Amino acid sequence: QDTRKKDFHEAPNELSTIRHVIAVVSGKGGVGKSLVTGLMSVAMSRKGKHTGILDADITGPSIPKMFGTKGEVRGNQAGAYPVRTAGGIEVVSMNLLLENSTDPVVWRGPIISGVVKQFWHDFIWEDIDYLFVDMPPGTGDVPLTVMQSIKLDGIIIVTSPQELVSMIVEKAVKMAEGMKVPILGLVENMSYFECPDCGKRHEIFGHSHIEEIAKSYGLDVLARIPIEPQLAAKCDAGQIETVADTHMQDAVQKLLDRE
Ligand code: ADP
Ligand code: MG
Repeated sequence: QDTRKKDFHEAPNELSTIRHVIAVVSGKGGVGKSLVTGLMSVAMSRKGKHTGILDADITGPSIPKMFGTKGEVRGNQAGAYPVRTAGGIEVVSMNLLLENSTDPVVWRGPIISGVVKQFWHDFIWEDIDYLFVDMPPGTGDVPLTVMQSIKLDGIIIVTSPQELVSMIVEKAVKMAEGMKVPILGLVENMSYFECPDCGKRHEIFGHSHIEEIAKSYGLDVLARIPIEPQLAAKCDAGQIETVADTHMQDAVQKLLDRE
């Protein structure tokens, strides 16, 4: 990466090689940002790309649980190493560093940003094709500082139909413009429910406006993910890597097409 032009970015560890860094953002918590980060990473890994996840959601880390990853972070003089999931995805998360992972993290913004910076330059991300960053929720100070410190290739905005999507998209677009980071597209989660009995799609939260909103901002809809209770169950059981159809094939292909 060329870091000369934007020297406010933190340099990654000198032993790291990271080809593409993509941040996943949302307007608020609970819309499925981590799930989308996880599913994207699984789909990308299945394309044969060496994939990493930097869990920047320090106060609500959920990636290790989703992957059933409990391994210990190991390190040496040169830096620390991410923990590898069963499927070969490299993960760094606050959850892997806390002695008791159910302890709440109650730090304030500047400390949190400092931890994310350490995840970026104190960890050795070896030969990573795609690094997905599960951002802190919202468009406030903490995600902004994270965006300022890590040089991103693009961001993906996760929304759900219950939200004021246009407002969230507008905020995220402004944030991305300020940071001069391209928006790669929108992902609508909990988009619909496919009835196992009648086979019909039900729009539980009302009709989706994601396509119109995307169009009005000149953005792409990368994926629409249905509400799937089995998906939530697999994530709770740490088995996201056994999900057969991640709904992310097209989305991931679009990212690869940009290379
Ligand atoms: P966030 O990271 O935005 O806070 P999560 O990804 O942790 O949200 O999702 C919140 C909860 O909702 C999790 O328990 C997750 O398994 C569940 N969930 C998210 N998306 C779906 C979906 N499409 N179908 C079923 N459950 C979902
Ligand atoms: Mg989360």
